[in-house]
Amino acid sequence: MNVRILGSGTSTGVPVIGCGCEVCSSTQSKNKRTRASILIEAPGGNILIDTSPDLRTQALAGSINRIDAVLYTHLHADHLHGIDDLRSFNRFKDGPIPCYGSKESVDAIARNFGYIFGDGGSIDSGGWKPDLTLNTIDTTTEICALEVTPVELTHGRSVVLGYRLNNFAYLTDCNAIGEASLELLRGQASIDTLVIGALRQRPHPSHFSIGEAIEASKAIGAKRVILTHMGHGIDYDKETKLLPTGVELAYDGMSFEVL
Ligand SMILES: [Zn+2]
Ligand SMILES: [Zn+2]
Ligand SMILES: [Zn+2]
Repeated sequence: MNVRILGSGTSTGVPVIGCGCEVCSSTQSKNKRTRASILIEAPGGNILIDTSPDLRTQALAGSINRIDAVLYTHLHADHLHGIDDLRSFNRFKDGPIPCYGSKESVDAIARNFGYIFGDGGSIDSGGWKPDLTLNTIDTTTEICALEVTPVELTHGRSVVLGYRLNNFAYLTDCNAIGEASLELLRGQASIDTLVIGALRQRPHPSHFSIGEAIEASKAIGAKRVILTHMGHGIDYDKETKLLPTGVELAYDGMSFEVL
């Protein structure tokens, strides 16, 4: 299957509005980061992880016309608020698009987007709203003919989900991984390619730093490590020179095959 990095940026995106720092004003296209999301293209269908506020831009940039399922990592706005753009994909699929997340996420999404899932709520949808179903995922589940395993991660005071699909794993917002989750990631076969969040060089209360993400990747035993969810403290070219062998920075539009 193929994985595409649709967005590699933190919650503000890079450039940050109003910031004139070296990275925000850089002309290097790999320093331009939309909000974090990936697309998994598998024989059984296209799985989107998170609906970033930049979903429309990402879909147009990548000529993505089909989404068969959505996996949510958590309910923060930078991972969720592009949900309305899913309606465009309903035109290319019979029936609703199934969306999966933790019980907490699913409950919050239903509550916060009542105009999609409830009786209309306070927002007038203008008559065209996404056709979606919400499903709790708490154990390995077959989605688009793939075994998808949710992996609990610590993200500040929240518990969020990462996902393992075969020998690929996507662990975006997190600052710690418990022993039970490490076991799921080590599993019977080790992870070949790991995409893991790394916000900046310095520690942060709810995100791994670059150094911490690399340490976590070693504990998982991943062969190829790709850092994502990066802020404007990370310059693509400068940082790439400092990374150990086997570790790379993600960039918007990056695409690679996984087993
Ligand atoms: Zn985030
Ligand atoms: Zn900046
Ligand atoms: Zn978050």
